[in-house]
Amino acid sequence: MFDIEHYFEAKSVEDAVRLLTEHEDAEIISGGTDVLVKLRDGKGAGGSLVSIHEIKELHGVKILSDGTLEIGPATCFTDLTNDPLIIRYVPYLGEAVDTVGGPQIRNQGTIGGNVCNGATSADSAATLQTLNAVVVLQGAEGVRRVPVTEFYTGPGRTVRRHDEVCRAIEIRPEDYAGFTGCYMKYGKRAAMEIATLGCCVRVRLTPDGETIEEARIGYGVAAPTPIRCRETEQALAGKRVADDQIYELIGSGVLNEVNPRSSWRASKDFRLQLISELARRALKEAIRRWQNHEAPDAALPGRKGGDQGC
Ligand SMILES: Cc1cc2nc3c(=O)[nH]c(=O)nc-3n(C[C@H](O)[C@H](O)[C@H](O)COP(=O)(O)OP(=O)(O)OC[C@H]3O[C@@H](n4cnc5c(N)ncnc54)[C@H](O)[C@@H]3O)c2cc1C
Repeated sequence: MFDIEHYFEAKSVEDAVRLLTEHEDAEIISGGTDVLVKLRDGKGAGGSLVSIHEIKELHGVKILSDGTLEIGPATCFTDLTNDPLIIRYVPYLGEAVDTVGGPQIRNQGTIGGNVCNGATSADSAATLQTLNAVVVLQGAEGVRRVPVTEFYTGPGRTVRRHDEVCRAIEIRPEDYAGFTGCYMKYGKRAAMEIATLGCCVRVRLTPDGETIEEARIGYGVAAPTPIRCRETEQALAGKRVADDQIYELIGSGVLNEVNPRSSWRASKDFRLQLISELARRALKEAIRRWQNHEAPDAALPGRKGGDQGC
């Protein structure tokens, strides 16, 4: 049994914020795949839980009128991977969360929990970094939008205040349109495995498909928080995709921008090797996907969306 003082079922985001404000010991529970495991270990025992699971507006994926993708934080991984908008516009995000745990965890765990737990190993983290995703937080003092690149403050820590509920994760059209991407996870086994290293590389090529216009590189577990490798991204811009030097460039460039540590899962040296190798492979696959006409246009009002961009 779990040691819980009170269990509240919030009816709306406002209700959840009120409950969190009134109960300083209360923690949000969404899918519960982190919270309940921690509780069983005695962490947070005797405290209260505010469930956001039944708040309908927190589930599902929408396109806003300006083409922004709005992801409900209580959307479970299985629903995210199978969502038609995710498949059309950011399929590599769906692929990334499809590497989480096993089917039961993917049916229960949510993208909001994956972001708000602050874990550098979260499988959505590297990809959301490269998408410049925006975390929309609603608390007693109102709504604020925090770029995911500024969301993490340390291992398991974020800028989210106790009374704040993540009410959406937004991805703007300029951050997905024209790009392809690829997430690669290394774990010692293919399922039920927290990432030893996770890497996402995304590219937008020039219309002729020959030159990198923009590259984005994100990592989980390459540092205490998820990170971007902006200097290497800049170094790749303008390089020709037929030139194999780009793989050398990315593989060695990223090593100057990461800060992995040794843990029982892997040594620092092994992680450095993964950081370099996964970046090369993910870049190669992202380019292949772009050349295979998989880069979407922005979903704009009046357009059915998803026209092939290249
Ligand atoms: C067996 C097992 C295997 C796993 N494998 C993986 C894996 O391979 N990859 C991976 O990334 N993770 C893995 N996890 C971890 C976990 O499943 C994920 O982190 C999941 O995304 C958590 O989502 P949840 O809805 O269950 O979060 P919860 O447990 O409900 O919450 C997690 C944290 O986020 C907060 N929170 C949740 N939603 C919100 C919100 N909307 N606003 C504000 N705060 C919120 C909670 O208060 C809590 O602090 C695994 C877990 C288990 C038990």
